Amino acid sequence: MVAAKVDIVDSTQTGFGLKDGRMCAPADVQSGLACGCTCIGCGAILVAKKGAKKRWHFAHHNVEIGESCAESAIHAAAKQVLLEHDWLRLPCMRVVVQGQATSGQVLEESSVLSEERVVRFERTCAEVWEDGIRPDVVGYRGERRLLVEMYFRHRVDENKRRKIGKLKLPTIEVDLSDLDISTGFDAIAQRVIHETGYKTWLFFPNEEQERQRLLAGLAARIERANREHQVEQAADQKRQTTRHRKLENDRKRREAANQRYRQMSHEDKERDLRERLGIAGRWPYYLCKKGDGASAIAEQAMIWQAALFSRFIFQRANSSFELKQTSVIQWILERFETGRSSPESVRAEVRLYLDYLAACGFLKKLSCTPYEIQVYTVVHGALEPPARLERPRTSFGNQPPVPAELAPAQLPALKEGWIWRAGRLTKLV
Ligand SMILES: [Zn+2]
Repeated sequence: MVAAKVDIVDSTQTGFGLKDGRMCAPADVQSGLACGCTCIGCGAILVAKKGAKKRWHFAHHNVEIGESCAESAIHAAAKQVLLEHDWLRLPCMRVVVQGQATSGQVLEESSVLSEERVVRFERTCAEVWEDGIRPDVVGYRGERRLLVEMYFRHRVDENKRRKIGKLKLPTIEVDLSDLDISTGFDAIAQRVIHETGYKTWLFFPNEEQERQRLLAGLAARIERANREHQVEQAADQKRQTTRHRKLENDRKRREAANQRYRQMSHEDKERDLRERLGIAGRWPYYLCKKGDGASAIAEQAMIWQAALFSRFIFQRANSSFELKQTSVIQWILERFETGRSSPESVRAEVRLYLDYLAACGFLKKLSCTPYEIQVYTVVHGALEPPARLERPRTSFGNQPPVPAELAPAQLPALKEGWIWRAGRLTKLV
């Protein structure tokens, strides 16, 4: 017989009726008042409704259904299912403890006290008193007992839990709470007998001892982890201190060197640069570009430009070396007096000079987005600039030499009209 027709449930229905001491589904009895069932909750006479529209159910005859009638019916049906089967599948009993080390790492210890298994009872009894509590069902096997609680609306409360704890008997709770109020025996048997996912251990002998054992092991592991962490942190701290000290020493050395350099006479600086760069006669014109106005750098253009060239470009033609605009600017700001000039005006002047050297063919600008730092590679590291392309002479003596390796088609930005001006490149048309 198929009881389920259409899943339309209302609160006036109940799924099981009591007849001759057993809970019955509508399919087990005759239709209507002839079913001979009463309500397990309130004792009212029930009418079996076995129509075509609604799922088969019982209705209360001539009285309103009580608040807990339907739940009492499911509860009683669940107990009956277990009593009639005399066996059930039990979930695994696993004890897990967790703790956190100072590093934030979560450590875990666990053990299995009992694998998932089927237990067959010699007999089962409902609602028998066991030292002050009355479990829904008690299963017996030799000397051993298992308590089973069915949970539909009300979980086992703290008081009952305490009493179960004192009994020290294995106790399982079966969760029926999400079952439909007019559910059938099959669904209940699935829950109570076969499935383990809805069963929870309320008490398991030796669980507490096992938990204490695991906690002791966990505490030792955490302590070890904390010790190791402490050692690592101390080493980290030491590395950091060493690094800071080195950076500070470097900074002081650089500052002292810059200080000494600033105090050198112009002649000494010039001699030094001539030696470094191998300048024999006339000072190369691209190493002494003067702007229109006052320079933001309180040093002769020939000195700071040749020094920049010597430090970043000379003999550094190497495609893997990336020259950051910001590094050059920082170096200039540290190396030379800038007086009352704003750092921004110094930056602008250095940027302009680097772009000039790029136009000369010493540097190549790498493409960058507006928010990135401009980076160059040194493409020509010799003192003399790359040879100019042959082109008609113009009246602008100041134009940068054009690198020979660039074909004319690649030179849109190197028009003849670009000249050096302090603060900007000006296009002469
Ligand atoms: Zn009732």
